This record gives sequence, structure tokens and C-alpha cells, in this order.
Amino acid sequence: MPVMTSYLDQDITYLKGVGPNRAKLLNAELGIRTIGDLLHTYPFRHEDRTKIHRICDLTEGMQNIQLRGRIVSLTKQGEGPKRRLVASFTDGTGYVQLVWFRVSKHLEMMYKVDVDYQVFGEPKPFGHYFSIAHPEMEELAKVINRPLLRMQPVYHSTDRLDRAKITSKLINELVANAFEKLPMALPEVFPPTLLQKHHLVSHHQAIRDIHFSQNAQAVTDAKHRLKFEELFFLQLSILQYNRQRKVDYEGWPFPRVGRLFNDFYAHHLPFSLTEAQKRVIKEVHADLRSGRQMNRLLQGDVGSGKTMVATLVALLALDNGFQACIMAPTEILAEQHYKGISAQLEPLGLRVELLTGTVKGKRRKAVLEGIARGEVQIVVGTHALIEPTVAFLNLGLVVIDEQHRFGVKQRAALWAKNTRPPHILVMTATPIPRTLAMTVYGDLDVSVIDQLPPGRKPIETRHYRTSQRHLLHQLIDAELRKGRQAYFVYPLIDENEKLDLLALEQGYEAVREAFPEWKVGRVHGKMKPIEKEEAMREFSTYETQILVSTTVIEVGVNVPNASVMVVENAERFGLAQLHQLRGRVGRGAEQSYCILVTKDNLAETTRQRMEIMVEMTDGFVIAEADMKFRGPGDLEGTAQSGLPFDLKIAHLVGDTALMAEAREAAARILETDATRQTPQYAPIWRELNRLRQEQQNYSSIS
Ligand code: ADP
Ligand code: MG
Repeated sequence: MPVMTSYLDQDITYLKGVGPNRAKLLNAELGIRTIGDLLHTYPFRHEDRTKIHRICDLTEGMQNIQLRGRIVSLTKQGEGPKRRLVASFTDGTGYVQLVWFRVSKHLEMMYKVDVDYQVFGEPKPFGHYFSIAHPEMEELAKVINRPLLRMQPVYHSTDRLDRAKITSKLINELVANAFEKLPMALPEVFPPTLLQKHHLVSHHQAIRDIHFSQNAQAVTDAKHRLKFEELFFLQLSILQYNRQRKVDYEGWPFPRVGRLFNDFYAHHLPFSLTEAQKRVIKEVHADLRSGRQMNRLLQGDVGSGKTMVATLVALLALDNGFQACIMAPTEILAEQHYKGISAQLEPLGLRVELLTGTVKGKRRKAVLEGIARGEVQIVVGTHALIEPTVAFLNLGLVVIDEQHRFGVKQRAALWAKNTRPPHILVMTATPIPRTLAMTVYGDLDVSVIDQLPPGRKPIETRHYRTSQRHLLHQLIDAELRKGRQAYFVYPLIDENEKLDLLALEQGYEAVREAFPEWKVGRVHGKMKPIEKEEAMREFSTYETQILVSTTVIEVGVNVPNASVMVVENAERFGLAQLHQLRGRVGRGAEQSYCILVTKDNLAETTRQRMEIMVEMTDGFVIAEADMKFRGPGDLEGTAQSGLPFDLKIAHLVGDTALMAEAREAAARILETDATRQTPQYAPIWRELNRLRQEQQNYSSIS
């Protein structure tokens, strides 16, 4: 349909009201260059102008709403910059205050007592009333005669667009203009059977209704359709790449379970493996034997024993004549892994080395040479391992620990380190629902350790308010006297390093004052690696008994003698993060405690979040609760970077059910039309190519 294509590809300057300046701004700020781009720029929410609220039904947290009623009094209040015009407004069910700042003669003349208005704005609780600042006002008499009330779209804006007066309203007008000139209905990519099966409105109708609709249901249907479409193509792309990969990438076959693995397993395991650990090792081993390259994600809650799995898998690589490397997100963690693993493997007489940014000079040279000659069999390190200077003789396995941000590019760099890509095992304690994991990690298979090692006492979690600090001190005092140790963790407050550091320093002084008999250490992100290392070492060797830190200890640190984790300003942390922090204690057989300290007065949601932490221990349950409270935010941001396309309307986390549906639909089409010959699916394949092309162009620019 060339007519349509050429229309959608038209520059937006084609539209009335868009000159070169506006075009430039729209492109720079919202990525809108063509008419097609404009039509596919979706509002991120709608204001329901079809509904009139009653004042008695207002609740905290409502967005813009409409009221109908009458002004019963108008007064000027306050002085100077606080001077304002206040109207008392009622609809018979209650009162609200309407407030205008910057009082002028003009403003004073505008509104009248005893006249009926339709009011539109955001109600905020204010004393016993709700107050609406700078509401939009229209005389009711005028509104009543207007035929259509509708769902008003709100588009993303930016400061520059605001300043250039490119408002939501203007964007909607431009879309209307573009829509009117359409030479025909927007093309449909899905065949009718698929539309029916998934209850989808047509693409044309969806685009129309998301921009211009009369009722809430139409908007809901439009969103559903557009989200489905987006998720469908996302899944189609991922599934298709997946198939290609399975065909394309041969891996090194590791058929042998040899001397090293067997010797270690039979004689040197410090504990017996949990059933879950055994199962995962079997799953990994099946991959390694298959002749295909392994790309596996290992999920396991904090403390579930992923490191031992990594170690055993590394031995499998060695048994088959290959080198293995284990990559950690931070230097501290890399060092800790290095120490733990090399101590455990000591009796096997292997050469295990550490490679991080701080390994320098002669030492580095020796390690690099050892790696290149194949004398170093296992390397533990940080991102430094990816650098081109690190050349392996025969790398067969890469374990990546806790690196959610490990993107496609870095993986590609690792793949290039041998003539065939090494097997890859990604380990994470961040529990991601399975459908989401399949999407975010696209081409990874997923294994789960769903069991903690036996004999662990569940960590007791308590929530103390600032006024209960004496209880906290009693507890810590008792634990220290038993010979145990304690962490105090401070949050990053506002990403302002100076302020964060200040909070930490003050905390450090307070802790020293409260526990004068004990030695207190501290760690924060601004310290030199060597200083951090020293502070961590002192804590792990009991030279210090209390460690005050920022969240640098969040991932992986292991001091089994520590029995108390105090999280200060706990309300500032996400639940998943609190769960991670809590996992730093409870690593020995004794009872451990996690104490969440918050201020005295808490918002209801904060109280609930603390309660969840006190009551729940399962990481998956907590992660799900976290998503509910905070929205998909963090995870979404992290996860998005791994996707083939950017999502404009669907949410990775919020739309998991639809995601699963779209994935199934995409899989079915891949199966029934593997050769891409079925005419009714032709538009789908064309669209997939177009999207990939678009993404490619985009990433080559940015
Ligand atoms: P994570 O999965 O969080 O990386 P680790 O690998 O650090 O967990 O293991 C946590 C602790 O549990 C370590 O001290 C480890 O030695 C111990 N551990 C691991 N597996 C077992 C097991 N099967 N039995 C007993 N202790 C175990
Ligand atoms: Mg770990």
C-alpha cells in the first residue's frame, strides 16, 4: 500500500501548524519526525472528562477530576507572595477550596459568587478540606450546551516543549489534523482470526480511540490492542532470534565428568548439596553436553548457595580441558569469591587467580600471561575480564554473578574470546517472574534454586521507630557480648554524594558513641578500593565488630559471624533491596536479626511495606509486593535495556499476563509459518522487519 506508506513517511512539516522550528523540537524532544511517528505517539494517560465527581467522594491521591457546583464566597487572603484568591465551592455534598495565586484585578473579576461552574483540577487535602489550585473553570451554562464530553489525552512533555507552547492540546490537534488527511484506514497487520481470538480492536480504531475517544471503555480497548501489538512483536523478535541462535551457535561439548569434579564432589565438599543445587547442576550439565552453547540464567534467593554451583560447573569445564572465569559486579565481591573459591579448591592443586582493576603492574602481567598460556585454570574478577588484553588460551565457561546490567554487547565481547563462544551462566538473586525473565534475558534458559541450605534459622526481622532506638541498642549490645557482629547500613539519600557521606559520617559517630567498648569500621562508595578492602577485611577478621556502611555491601558480602543487620532510614529502600541487605546475616547457624529503623511518623504505605518485611521471607513474594508498591520502575528500567525494541505503551512488569498471551501467539505463528509463505501473515513479517530496521537506524544514531 504505497499510498499509505508514503503518507505515513511524510515529514510532519506537511501538517498545518508545523513549521521548521516546531518540527525540529518535536523531533528532538519526542522523536517525532514523520506523520507516522506522530500518530504512534501515544498519550501516557487520559483525563476522564466524561465523569463528574461528587465532593464527598474525593480521596487523597486523585488526579485531575471534574466537579460541578457553585461558588459561595470569594476572599483575598495572605500577604505578599502568599497573597491568594480563595473561593469556597460546593456541590451540595461538601465543600472544596479553589485557590489562585498571583492575584490580579483581572483574576478578581473573572469569577462570581452564586454562579454555577464546572471545575477541573487536582484535589489536594488541605486541613479538613480538599483544595484545588488554579483549576480550569467554565460556566456550567456553557458546558451544558456542548454536545461532547470526552477522554482528554495527556502526552509526554518536556521543558523545552512547554516553553515553546507545544502543549498536550496542540499535539492532539496535530494528530487530529494528520488523522483527517489519512488517504485510507490505517493498515491492519493481524489476520481477523487473531483479532478475534485475542479480543483486539483494529489498529485503525485503536489509534483513533487512543487519541480521540468519547468514553473510558474505548480507551481501555485501544490500549489493550496497542499493548498486545507491541508485546507480540517483541516476543516474535525474541523467539525468532532464539531459534536462529539454537541453530547457529555450536558450543564446546563437555562430555566428561572427570577427575577434578569427582574428586572434589566426593572428598572436599564442605557440606552436602541441597536437592535444588543438585538439580540445577544436572540442568547445566545437560546443556554442556549438548554441543550447543549454553546461555542459562540461574535464579536463587540470597544465601541459596549459587557460588558452589558456579564452582562445580567450573570444574566440569576444567575436566574437559577448558579454562573458566567468574565475573562479579564489584571488586569486594570478586575478592571474596576469589578467596572462598581458591580456599575450597586448594586440595585440588589448581591455579586460581584474581583479576580486577586493582591488580596492577607485575602481578597483573603474571596473571595475564598465565591466562594466555592456559596455566591459570580459573580466573575470578570484575569487568576487567572483558578487556581485550585478557586473552585466554581456551576459555570454555563464563559465570556472571549478579549482573543484571550485563548487556548484549558485553556478552558479545566474551563470546569473541574463543573461536567458539564459551558457555555462559548468569546468576542472580533478583527474583524475576518467569515470563518476564524469558523476555528480558530473551535467549537465556532459566534454572531456579528454590531451597535454602538446611539448618538455617530464619532471620528475625523487627521494625523499630526512632523513639525505640534503645531497644535496638539493647539487642546489639547483647549480640556483641555473645561474640557476634553487626552491620549498620545507610541509604543513598539523594544521589548527592556529599550529603550521603555526611549522613554516613554522622551515623558512624553516633554508633561509636553508643558502643564505646567496641571497634567500629566503615565502608562507603567514595573510598579507594584498597581502603574498602581493608575495612571489609577488618570486619571479617573480627578486628572491628561493627561495620557502618552505605549500600556497597549489598551484594554478596559474606561474614557468617555477623548476626545483626540494622538498616537506617529503611523507608528509603525498596523491598527487594531490603531483602538483599537482610541476606547479609543469617549465614551461620545462630539466630540473626534484621532491624529496620524508620522515623516515628510513617505514611500508611511505608508501614505496610515494613510489615511485609517483618512477615515475609520469600524473595519472590517480596519482589512481587515491591512491584505493586513501587510500580515496575527500577526493574523495568534495568530490564528494558535488554530488549530488542523500546516499549511505548506496554509495561514489562505490569502487563505480564498480556505478555504471556502475546508470547504464545507469536510462538504459534513462528510454528505455523516458519517459511514465511502464508499470505495472511505476510503483513506481520513485514512489520517485524520494519521495526528491526527502525531500531537499527535508531541505535546507529544514538
Ligand atoms: P548466594 O546464592 O547468595 O550467592 P552463597 O553461595 O554465598 O549464596 O552461599 C551462602 C552460604 O551458604 C555460604 O556460606 C555457603 O558456603 C553456604 N552454603 C551453600 N550451599 C550450602 C549447602 N548445600 N549446605 C550448607 N551450606 C551451604
Ligand atoms: Mg552470591
